[in-house]
Amino acid sequence: MFSLRSVSKTFPNATIALEDITAEIEPGDFVALLGPSGCGKSTLLRLLAGLEAPSAGSIEWEHRPGPGDIGFVFQDATLLPWASAEENVYLPLRLRGRKWADAAALVESALAQVGLADFANAKPRALSGGMKMRVSIARALVSDPMLLLMDEPFAALDEFTRHRLQDDLHALWRRSGKTIVFITHSIYEAAYLASRILVLSPRPGRIAADIRTAIPEGERRRASAAYTDLVAEITETFQRVMPVHE
Ligand code: ADP
Repeated sequence: MFSLRSVSKTFPNATIALEDITAEIEPGDFVALLGPSGCGKSTLLRLLAGLEAPSAGSIEWEHRPGPGDIGFVFQDATLLPWASAEENVYLPLRLRGRKWADAAALVESALAQVGLADFANAKPRALSGGMKMRVSIARALVSDPMLLLMDEPFAALDEFTRHRLQDDLHALWRRSGKTIVFITHSIYEAAYLASRILVLSPRPGRIAADIRTAIPEGERRRASAAYTDLVAEITETFQRVMPVHE
């Protein structure tokens, strides 16, 4: 889908946020960017979104993304409080001039994909934190993007809700075959969700490990030996690569 070729990012204040990042991301990969605060995860996401340019190196796209080809989800659901779930999901299409008559089916389908088919007319204040996040994911999906960029979307949710959303996002990814790049600082979350984990080490942000996961699908995934072994492997990687004073 895209290649990162020796990508570096140095800010004007001389902070080196990323250094020599090289990785090839295949269509359908679920990539977790995993690392502690300050290791350059958000900077890498902003580079992918085209909101910043690399200071050195390049991002080569198989198909350069146009409007609607990249969906964003942030930690805060950022819904319009006066608008219903349906109107919030319609917003990106409306901004691109799509009439409601030809957007309605897409909006309905996006809400159904996140399990909110029955909540189209609910206002954000009537929705729980997890449901608001579902609306935010539906809004990102409504233009059928080729790439979904997610910046710690579940970090503010309680653990029970988080597990449900992780289960549903993992299932949605398997069903849709979308390419996802997902920021997290949770080893458990990265291990559970992703097909590939880029472990970043800080100052400057570098790829410390590139781990392809292979946890068998099934109801007891969280309790599987493959999952706990992967968590242990990532934990050991961090112990190896993190500076001792962190
Ligand atoms: P993460 O998302 O992993 O917490 P960030 O990508 O936000 O990390 O930041 C990486 C490093 O770059 C940090 O040291 C941060 O302070 C610095 N940084 C981020 N944005 C800017 C900016 N606009 N100007 C200067 N430094 C920045």
